[in-house]
Amino acid sequence: MELIKAMRGTRDIYDVEALKFNFIEDTAKELLENYGFGRIITPTFESTDLFKRGIGEGTDIVDKEMYTFSDRGDRSITLRPEGTAPVVRSYLENKTYAKEDLTKYYYINNMFRYERPQAGRYREFYQIGVEILGNASPMADAEVISMGYRLMEKLGIEDLKVNINSVGGNETRAKYREILVNYLTPKKDGLCTDCQTRYEANPLRVLDCKNKNCQELTVDAPMLPDNLNSEEKAHYETVKEYLDMFGVEYVENPRLVRGLDYYSSTVFEIITEKLGSQGTVLGGGRYDNLIKQLGDKEVPAVGFGSGLDRLMMLLGEDKIVNTPDIYISWMGEENIDYAFLVANKLRDNGVKVYIEYAPKSANAHRKKAFKLGAQREVIIDSESKANRTMGLKELSSRDVEVVAFDELLEKV
Ligand code: ATP
Ligand code: MG
Repeated sequence: MELIKAMRGTRDIYDVEALKFNFIEDTAKELLENYGFGRIITPTFESTDLFKRGIGEGTDIVDKEMYTFSDRGDRSITLRPEGTAPVVRSYLENKTYAKEDLTKYYYINNMFRYERPQAGRYREFYQIGVEILGNASPMADAEVISMGYRLMEKLGIEDLKVNINSVGGNETRAKYREILVNYLTPKKDGLCTDCQTRYEANPLRVLDCKNKNCQELTVDAPMLPDNLNSEEKAHYETVKEYLDMFGVEYVENPRLVRGLDYYSSTVFEIITEKLGSQGTVLGGGRYDNLIKQLGDKEVPAVGFGSGLDRLMMLLGEDKIVNTPDIYISWMGEENIDYAFLVANKLRDNGVKVYIEYAPKSANAHRKKAFKLGAQREVIIDSESKANRTMGLKELSSRDVEVVAFDELLEKV
């Protein structure tokens, strides 16, 4: 029979990978909740229009990457390719803006994009994201960036660079776009084929093209931050002051423009050189226009999305352990009930206990206990059941101590 396999671009996460996943998720939850963020869980699929309107046609995601299909009721639905538009949809639909003037959410969700799979790029992947809705202050931008920075610190991921830039508001970008197009026009034929398309659709993206030749051709291009108006400049300066105050190390990268259309003002990325062209582990920015685009409300907002799968690839394995405290070796099927009594008493008191269901020789038990990396072994046979005792053994030594059932908790 031909085996059915996981779909291209998807994968099973188990074993050490699952431990890494848990570690990242737990670390993120704790950190983000310390910053006063509450979790939001939005549906896996949404109306296709949400992403068309929110992310915008002409972007890679909407034009090429969405999993869109009709359900049995002929509705066009899309598996979420990103987390921000769904959060904004919820915020508008539930009139959250009328209940509080500042909303701080975080999410940890799977996302779906029809991409060419490679290391660090999947069709189903996971993002940790945060969104602050209802505040325009540069403090919010700086706090979001610094949370991303702290998250990497807590995970122990090193050699990362925080890149920041400001892309200004709509007016500034429109003006700059013209300046840039004038600059690019005589050089157009020398650009790579991707950039020829970008030149038409989104010329700003030519600036962050990874192609060496495109980079050389545009070394002296006019830069966006030099074209900000005074208000935008002041906002950007204040973001940097706060970042300094928060102890975040960053570099200004005037070529940084993010792929999504909805960003305005501050944009940022955290990147590594270890994952090739999948080097962005976190990206985000301010999106003051998105909420108007989706719901006709003026609500300033800022957030980030971070790729959990890429964080997993960078995570050292040293912190990743899930070994039992105690392995229970039981001999004789008539003693199973007592073995479980011991196991469950320990578990109820927070001890990690591993027990098997099939009878094994003492030797086979010991091998399994070592394999699992258990610290101690509890040995149970007919004699221990009769006396309500057990053998307790440090796996690193040979000595077995006889312990009474009632003393057990004190001993472990
Ligand atoms: P990239 O340039 O790598 O395609 P992006 O700009 O499309 O990234 P965003 O939409 O900003 O990415 O998503 C935020 C983060 O989610 C990325 O920085 C990355 O870490 C992660 N990410 C995006 N797409 C994928 C994917 N297909 N597989 C795994 N992680 C991804
Ligand atoms: Mg992408």
